[in-house]
Parts: sequence; structure tokens; C-alpha cells
Amino acid sequence: MARALYPGTFDPIHNGHIDIAVRAGALFDEVIMAIYDAPPKKLLFTTDERLALAEQALAHIPTLRIITYTGLTIECAREQKVDLIVRGLRNVADFDYEQQIGWANNHLAPAIDLCCLFCNHAYAYLSATILKEVASLGGNCAAWAPPHVLDALAVKFNRPELRSGNEVFLPHANKLVHRD
Ligand code: ADP
Repeated sequence: MARALYPGTFDPIHNGHIDIAVRAGALFDEVIMAIYDAPPKKLLFTTDERLALAEQALAHIPTLRIITYTGLTIECAREQKVDLIVRGLRNVADFDYEQQIGWANNHLAPAIDLCCLFCNHAYAYLSATILKEVASLGGNCAAWAPPHVLDALAVKFNRPELRSGNEVFLPHANKLVHRD
């Protein structure tokens, strides 16, 4: 019975993240996506908003649940009693970063392993930063994130042209409602 932690900022969740979550869900008995509460970088979405967006995007994976956490990722992994941490790799820069943090984590918690999955080549250039930059300028992001995430970006950036679905995400109400 293998339990995996899939940590990250997910600001917001996009198709590259979803691809890794789906594949991890097929590989492991249980996957816990862990949304980091307060990374040292400026966020667009609150923790509750990132959680709500991720929950809607991944509701179809029965073996996956989503939590939020503060502090060290490896401490979260220990508390959740996982066997391993899953991360996605896009390029050499990701590899270098994951190798370094992976060795540090291994020093702190030798029993918890690291599993890196190569990203789908379709999303190799995709990051939450690129998504937000393009969305903020009203570019077409339809291939990069699910409709409800596009709706949330449309609200944040006041870019109605980004909307593609019948629902709109209301950040303060923290829920999706149908548009009339
Ligand atoms: P962090 O801020 O810790 O890098 P992110 O939320 O950006 O967290 O990413 C969470 C995980 O998703 C990381 O393992 C990251 O490498 C992976 N990831 C990010 N973008 C992609 C992508 N386009 N395809 C696959 N995995 C990705």
C-alpha cells in the first residue's frame, strides 16, 4: 500500500499539474495533494481559492484528496505518513532543483522516498507563472487549464474574454455558480 504526497503551490492548478496528479493516482494507492499555504513568493490566489480550484479539477480521482499545509514539506509528508513524495519534471532546471531538495529531504527523513514523473511533453513549457502572465493580458489559455480555472483567472484579472464555461468562480464566496 503506497501513499504519496504531491506538494506544490498550485497558484492556480493547471493541466500540467493535473496530468501528474492523474498519473500518480493510477500509480499509487493513495495520493495526497498538499497545497503550500505561504510560499516565499507573491500569490494570485488565496489558499482557500487554490484548494477550491484544485478540488474541482481533481474530483474525478477517487484515490486523491487535497490538504493545505504550512512549514516544511517533509514534515507534512511525515505527518501524513506517506511513503514518498511525487514531483513533476519539466526540464533540467526542475531536475537540479528536485535533486537538491530531494537529497536534503532524504537527510531529514530517510524513510520517505522521492518519485519524479516526467511531465507530458504537451505541458513542458507550462508553468503557473506563464499561465498568469498570459491570462493577465487576455491571451488564449484554453489549452492550459480547465474552464473553472479560466473563469477564476478572468475574475482576478477582469478579463471576461478568458471565460469559456457556463460557470464562474467567485473567489470571496469560494464557490462556483452557474451564469444566467
Ligand atoms: P512549486 O512552487 O513547489 O514548484 P508548483 O505548484 O509550481 O510548485 O508545482 C507543483 C508540482 O507540479 C511540481 O512538482 C512541479 O514541478 C510540477 N509542475 C509544474 N508545472 C508542471 C507541468 N507543466 N507539467 C508537469 N508538472 C508540472
